[in-house]
Amino acid sequence: MRHSAVVTGGASGIGIAIARRLLDDGWPVAIIDIDEQALIAAEDLFADENAIFIQADVTDEDELDAAFDEVVDRLGLIGGLVNAAGIARDAMAEETSAELLRELLDVNLVGAFIAAKAALERMGQALSVVNISSVSGMRANRGHLAYGASKAGVKLMSEVLALEFGSRGVRVNCVAPGPTDDAGSIEARRLWVGRVPQARYGEPEEVAAAVAFLLSPEASFVNGHTLAVDGGFLAAGVTAEA
Ligand code: NAD
Repeated sequence: MRHSAVVTGGASGIGIAIARRLLDDGWPVAIIDIDEQALIAAEDLFADENAIFIQADVTDEDELDAAFDEVVDRLGLIGGLVNAAGIARDAMAEETSAELLRELLDVNLVGAFIAAKAALERMGQALSVVNISSVSGMRANRGHLAYGASKAGVKLMSEVLALEFGSRGVRVNCVAPGPTDDAGSIEARRLWVGRVPQARYGEPEEVAAAVAFLLSPEASFVNGHTLAVDGGFLAAGVTAEA
């Protein structure tokens, strides 16, 4: 029997595309999200499919423990976890308060850690974890002090988990999306697109394809890796024509 997959932040954006892709790949999928309205909309979208929907805040250990217990009860032991829950805030260093930094670290980094622990305690024979980092966790992007630090933490945390659990049937990898979907102002879009060799934003489905690969047995010897899905952003040097 195939074990279940959990997608945190699965009620919107990249997370919902990941849930769709994992369902198509045959995983029973539990979507955990804090946003009740988004969960209700996602439930409509995935009606009659092998999916369950649970409201929980990834920063709350008790809520998440209860949510993961429910996943095991309803879908079986856990074989896959995708940490897509996250928040983004733009703020220059001078405008970044300790409170803002704590908030982003709490949701993006500590939340992913709490979910990983909950999954490890309820894993089946094997567990694959994919954490959604960001190119902003690998390059210094203006206004991304707090967000970038949280996503750099996600990458490093994934590597330590990969190291410590590698001999116990657990793989932990990251996907680092570049600018994805069409969110953001026209000015922000122009800035990003100008730095992406493929000269466009990515689609959530393109991120989901990379996640599905890393989660699957096809990636059975891929561990502690961060796969950028960024149209070449991280590889680029000088991008403008002379
Ligand atoms: P989104 O806001 O559409 O989705 C994030 C989801 O996480 C939402 O459904 C939200 O309700 C949920 N969430 C937020 N806080 C939560 C909490 N405390 N507990 C449970 N759920 C919570 O954003 P998105 O753009 O689809 O981003 C998904 C992931 O991809 C995030 O981790 C984000 O940082 C990362 N990412 C996005 C981009 C991009 O360009 N969109 C680029 C790089 C990385």
